[in-house]
Amino acid sequence: MEFDIVVVGAGPAGSSAARVAAQNGAKVLLLEKRQEIGAPKRCGEAAPTTEEFEKLGVKIISQVIRNEIRGYSFYSPKGINVKVVWDHPVGYMLERKMFDKFLAIQAAQAGAQIMVKARAINLLKGNGKIVGVKINHFGEEFDVDTKIVIAADGVESKIARWAGLNSKSLRDATSNVQFEMAGIELRDPNLIEFYFGSKVAPGGYAWIFPKGDYTANVGLGIRGGQTTAFQYLKKFIESKENLRNGAIIEVNVGATPIGGPIEKTVSDNLIAVGDTAGHINPVTGGGIYNAVLCGIIAGEVAAKAVQEGDTSETRLFEYEERWKKAILTNLEKGLRIKSVLEKMSDEELDALAEVLEGKDVVRLFREDPMTVFIELMKRSPKLSIKLLLDLSGFRK
Ligand SMILES: Cc1cc2nc3c(=O)[nH]c(=O)nc-3n(C[C@H](O)[C@H](O)[C@H](O)COP(=O)(O)OP(=O)(O)OC[C@H]3O[C@@H](n4cnc5c(N)ncnc54)[C@H](O)[C@@H]3O)c2cc1C
Repeated sequence: MEFDIVVVGAGPAGSSAARVAAQNGAKVLLLEKRQEIGAPKRCGEAAPTTEEFEKLGVKIISQVIRNEIRGYSFYSPKGINVKVVWDHPVGYMLERKMFDKFLAIQAAQAGAQIMVKARAINLLKGNGKIVGVKINHFGEEFDVDTKIVIAADGVESKIARWAGLNSKSLRDATSNVQFEMAGIELRDPNLIEFYFGSKVAPGGYAWIFPKGDYTANVGLGIRGGQTTAFQYLKKFIESKENLRNGAIIEVNVGATPIGGPIEKTVSDNLIAVGDTAGHINPVTGGGIYNAVLCGIIAGEVAAKAVQEGDTSETRLFEYEERWKKAILTNLEKGLRIKSVLEKMSDEELDALAEVLEGKDVVRLFREDPMTVFIELMKRSPKLSIKLLLDLSGFRK
């Protein structure tokens, strides 16, 4: 079998890349190792608004949306609450299994061939260059020839590693466990909640993301810690009166790479995209939107490169330039916010929460985070010296 482009992984990045490459005239094969696209989900399912997706040309159907997000609520280690609330939706809770399938259906409609239960087990090389992919499909192994491979195989990507694009940044990851829970009381079904502190979720945070009135994704991500993420989650749920009697209707596990993008996202005949490329926001752990956005760029550049008969690293570099222009500033902001937050003790996080207002949270993401942190520092004598040292890079 011969294709122009083989996309490995049918998550948001892979399906978006496959759709756009097919729409641009390429013969595309999309591989998914699991038997069902989108399942099991490994996601809290919080995403930006449909308008944001529409800016990318993706019209989200109502069947993939479960709930409106109208604000964020943050809890410091000792329970100080900071809220940011809007009178309109600022995001949506998706039904991720449906969302991923919806993106794959669009890829199929555009002409991409899709194989599920098809695992890419190796890259085929000729004269040192990638010329194909070895696939295991329902236990049967075979080779397909291709001009470009798009590695969209997620955080545990082997494809990027086989192609020599391995990166340290993917090893900086939180280990996450989440329960989808039903029969729970929510403070506000349109607010997504975040809980910080070394006793709750060391090196990460815990979350309650409502999917409706009595249903929510309740999870946490940790780095390090005294015990497993699972034990921390059980303790977190036990500590919450509104959760402890709820039913667990699904268990989700997975890692989120929060170390920022990998150093290089293209090589001859290969593009890395989505979690594989570290396109996830280092502070929120949100990666759906960036995966779609970068997948679209990957599909477009790959199809054009095939048409032009030049699939070299130099030609594919257009992809790297374009995704960087679109999201690198935000990823770097996220890394800077994370670098400050991760060094703060529980007492410092409490002191920060005492002076933090909802509008400061918005500013942290929209403006220069260091300027905002310095302003916050001036508001609290408890923060000044240590945080100042962090901001100036002295305390590692
Ligand atoms: C617990 C948790 C909660 C999260 N919550 C949120 C959230 O609320 N909002 C948000 O925006 N982001 C969230 N994320 C991150 C988000 O899920 C990812 O950023 C997003 O899925 C990245 O999309 P992707 O297409 O790059 O990778 P993935 O969605 O991981 O897709 C990769 C696909 O490749 C397949 N694959 C892997 N290897 C092979 C192979 N060799 N051959 C064939 N197929 C292969 C996998 O089966 C998978 O389907 C969360 C992540 C976790 C783990």
